[in-house]
Amino acid sequence: MSAQLLDGKVLAGKIKEKLKMQISEILKEKRRVPRVINIAVGDHHSACAYANAQIRVAEEIGIDYKLDVLPADIPQGKLIDHVRKLNLDPGVNGIMVHKPVPAHIDHHAVANQIDVIKDLEGVNVVNIGKMMLGKTSIIPCTPAAVMAHIDSTGVPLRGKEVVIVGHSEIVGKPLSLLLLQRMATVTVCHLATSEAGKLIDHVSRADVLVVAVGKPELIKGQWIKKDAIVIDVGINQVGSRIVGDVEFYAAQEKAAYLTPVPGGVGPVTVVMLMKNAIEAFSSQMGQR
Ligand code: NDP
Repeated sequence: MSAQLLDGKVLAGKIKEKLKMQISEILKEKRRVPRVINIAVGDHHSACAYANAQIRVAEEIGIDYKLDVLPADIPQGKLIDHVRKLNLDPGVNGIMVHKPVPAHIDHHAVANQIDVIKDLEGVNVVNIGKMMLGKTSIIPCTPAAVMAHIDSTGVPLRGKEVVIVGHSEIVGKPLSLLLLQRMATVTVCHLATSEAGKLIDHVSRADVLVVAVGKPELIKGQWIKKDAIVIDVGINQVGSRIVGDVEFYAAQEKAAYLTPVPGGVGPVTVVMLMKNAIEAFSSQMGQR
């Protein structure tokens, strides 16, 4: 039997409808909409491609979104000054600093300057700490998108073996916390797991497998446990094709649910940023 595909566009569409309704209520009550600023340092392609998707979704939902492109050679101090100015601007409700930044800039140092209640991506250390305690409504966007996909299957997480491959700060680590809060049994794999030859062992016992590595088809379909939920976060350009980190067609034969790449996690991630913008706005308006 072939896996049921978890269509990110469909899921994103459902979430967008809810967000649109929230925006129309906000507009009625406050006579304004949330305003968010995405700061990109240097006019690089990835920032613009990601921002274009965000601009489109923001427009659809009714969020005021601006991309601030700053020169690639801006000193870190000036970038921090810019963030602080936005922190003080009551007309700005959400701030993010697009990654990657040029080598002379420490993204952590800049992210920590974002006001905790305007931190759209949950990257300020205070929000990271709150997430560990399960006490923030600003959840990093990609882990939030992964959770939404898993929840869309209706399969309860409690007691399930969940294996995450990749322990980055933006995906694997925060996701492990969200899954623990849901009482899943979580294993996090990384480069050393592969080096030790253990990746296949962990992957093959996963009821839920999430892969966020950035290596095309690292995970072989044959490794996947029958009827697993497989969430492929990876985005890899191979020639003219975009592929994930999981061997798609072989995985389809084993999994019960599978996200396609493209069109799986990506579209939901963008919508989660807008959800965070509304959360941030609402907490600033003292509605929560
Ligand atoms: P990072 O490069 O920050 O992290 C990659 C992770 O994979 C690291 O933890 C690394 O471990 C681990 N890793 C590398 N090689 C192996 C291996 N052979 N076996 C096991 N683990 C390995 O990447 P990101 O987390 O930023 O992104 C991961 C992928 O997800 C990328 O393809 C990216 O484009 C995509 N992505 C997609 C998003 C979406 O919305 N769909 C959003 C964000 C990312 P170690 O540190 O130990 O080397």
